[in-house]
Amino acid sequence: MIHYQMDGKVALVTGASGGIGRSAAQAFAGSGASVVVSDVQEEKGEETVKLITDEGGKAAFQLCDVSDEASVQALVDRAVSEYGRLDFAVNNAGINDIAKDEYELDVWQRSLDVNLTGVMLCMKAEAEAMLASGGGAIVNTSSINGLIGNPMQPAYNAGKHGVIGLTRHGALKWAKDGIRVNCVCPGFIETPMTDIITKSAKLTNSMKLITPMDRIGKPEEIASAMVWLCSDAASFVTGHPMVIDGGATAM
Ligand code: NAP
Repeated sequence: MIHYQMDGKVALVTGASGGIGRSAAQAFAGSGASVVVSDVQEEKGEETVKLITDEGGKAAFQLCDVSDEASVQALVDRAVSEYGRLDFAVNNAGINDIAKDEYELDVWQRSLDVNLTGVMLCMKAEAEAMLASGGGAIVNTSSINGLIGNPMQPAYNAGKHGVIGLTRHGALKWAKDGIRVNCVCPGFIETPMTDIITKSAKLTNSMKLITPMDRIGKPEEIASAMVWLCSDAASFVTGHPMVIDGGATAM
């Protein structure tokens, strides 16, 4: 993992109790940023904090349901009260239960509440805090499901397309205010969300078949892109949906 110069900077990461979000929180801390680790899973979130502080990094946990506006505002307020400012935000919390029928209205609604409305609520509160300290960078987590069709999951598919739209919106809205907004579009990554697939050799092989690099991605391979997008190395990059998928969408 490449480390950037982020001493004195403050990052928040949603959905950081495991998977991609935990790796992102660790990567920001490894570059010197203080990190607010956030999730609906408190115990595992505190584990992420411990992993960071055991390595000498600075982190604090804040319980947050991204679909709840007051909870999101409390998260951003915590970053400012704990560390004085907010520079970077990774809106990564998401749900994707392939066992559920997303044509059922309550399932459809919950998916969009978390995967799309959650990103909008986070961007709104984060941008306000960033404006107060002169700018910042936001990275949203979309998916290759934001770029191509998925015949099984209408809500996840539509929500992740929506995240790319929101990213482009935010990039334009805050372009002159010093806030850059980008997103990542991961392919198939080994995380708790994909446990159900990685536990089956047959399903894992079918995922490899649609991935030219013939392997499943690692959370840190997404985290490193998130940190790069927030770093000064990406100072002219905004509105970009960065694909990290082992070549899956190149086919
Ligand atoms: P993960 O380990 O399940 O992480 C997602 C975290 O978000 C979980 O801890 C989850 O808690 C939490 N969460 C769910 N609802 C929330 C809410 N309302 N508010 C706050 N946190 C909430 O999965 P991951 O694979 O790292 O996923 C991270 C992001 O990457 C998601 O947006 C996902 O859609 C996206 N993504 C993943 C892949 C992949 O192959 N893994 C590919 C493309 C995109 P619960 O466990 O309680 O739900």
